[in-house]
Amino acid sequence: MYKLQEMYEKLGIKKEVYEYSKGILDGLKDRFESIDETAEYNQLKVLHAMQKNRVGEADLKGSTGYGYDDLGRDRLERVYADVFGCEDALVRPQITCGTHAITLALFSNLRPQDELLYISGKPYDTLESVIGLRDSKGSFAEYGITYAQADLKDGGYIDEESVRKKINERTRIVAIQRSKGYDTRRSLSVEEIKKAAMLAKSIKDDVIVFVDNCYGEFVERLEPTEAGADMIAGSLIKNPGGGLSAVGGYIAGKRDCVENAAARLTSPGLGKEVGASLGMLPSFYQGFFMAPSVTASALKGAVFAAALYEKLGFDVYPAPDEKRTDIIQAVTLRSKEALLSFCKGIQSTSAIDSFVSPTPSDMPGYDCEVVMAAGDFISGSSIELSADAPLKSPYNVYFQGGLTSFHAVAGIMKTLQSLTDDKIIDRSALK
Ligand SMILES: *Cc1c(COP(=O)(O)O)cnc(C)c1O
Repeated sequence: MYKLQEMYEKLGIKKEVYEYSKGILDGLKDRFESIDETAEYNQLKVLHAMQKNRVGEADLKGSTGYGYDDLGRDRLERVYADVFGCEDALVRPQITCGTHAITLALFSNLRPQDELLYISGKPYDTLESVIGLRDSKGSFAEYGITYAQADLKDGGYIDEESVRKKINERTRIVAIQRSKGYDTRRSLSVEEIKKAAMLAKSIKDDVIVFVDNCYGEFVERLEPTEAGADMIAGSLIKNPGGGLSAVGGYIAGKRDCVENAAARLTSPGLGKEVGASLGMLPSFYQGFFMAPSVTASALKGAVFAAALYEKLGFDVYPAPDEKRTDIIQAVTLRSKEALLSFCKGIQSTSAIDSFVSPTPSDMPGYDCEVVMAAGDFISGSSIELSADAPLKSPYNVYFQGGLTSFHAVAGIMKTLQSLTDDKIIDRSALK
């Protein structure tokens, strides 16, 4: 039998990096314990919802064709609604990704002449095409749906004054993006979302408060729908899929909002009644069941990365001791070489495709090359250990995921190994 350190050595993590990392990890014990407490709470929440809804073996079977009377699919949607503390949910493999889920939620609840107001500043990149900020077929702009934005205040807080000014008689949806996504702003906690929802409704009581919940699920004990949001949406290849769902997205919230979304996903009149679940239900159920602890694993990796790189003198967002509401960790690496080296470290720690080198390339929707490191069981799954970075100053890398905390931690150790091997970090820093 080998010593633990020798096992790390087999993965290319040398003793000095291991010992340096170990020192950091020892200082994070309390932090990890509190992450586990949240996971414990959320595990019980999911378990209770499954039992309350009497999920049975027959529910795992799924349907083909039209998908009429797919009892397992319908029950899963009730489980989601219970866990998210709301009236209804739509959880479908036909929702192709997070952007699709968000688009569906928004589009189905907006009508021509309505205005969509984002109050968390610029939304996630892919939504620019959806809204029509970038010319694109089928955008909201083509349907006469207008867009307004209230930027965050300095420090990254919702600007109440600006929200007051921007809500008008045409404002139909007030949208909040919980996670910073690929940006270095603060992510917005459920508590802040609650305050913002109350504010929006106090100004105009019939607005729909929508939250882009991507990367946020199970990081806190409450979800936005339990704190004043009318509707949330997210991707099943992020947190709520628990690493097992191979595709899919969800929308949860008020019955009326979810019905609108179902009518647009399938057809008016058909709504939630159709949509075969094919063979997806076992992984949807099991993934949701695993999601609290998988999210905790990813969070431990993020906190470890923050603590490690902060100690080495890099800017990190959020800071290691900051309260978290999503799983993304940004590190400002300050050079292209450092970005590539970091990504190489992540890629080489993957279970799948550990032997390939991530290379920068142009991506639709970006104004510069992007490098992505991921060796995923499920293609593009970012609840799995992964890192993404646009190749532009100040060279931020966005790190997320890890199906187990051991894997997430090893991945981060390997990035440090890579940066020292490439002489970007001096070995003397590890003494
Ligand atoms: C990932 C993400 C999206 C889009 O999800 P895709 O599945 O990549 O389309 C939207 N918003 C946020 C905050 C995200 O993190």
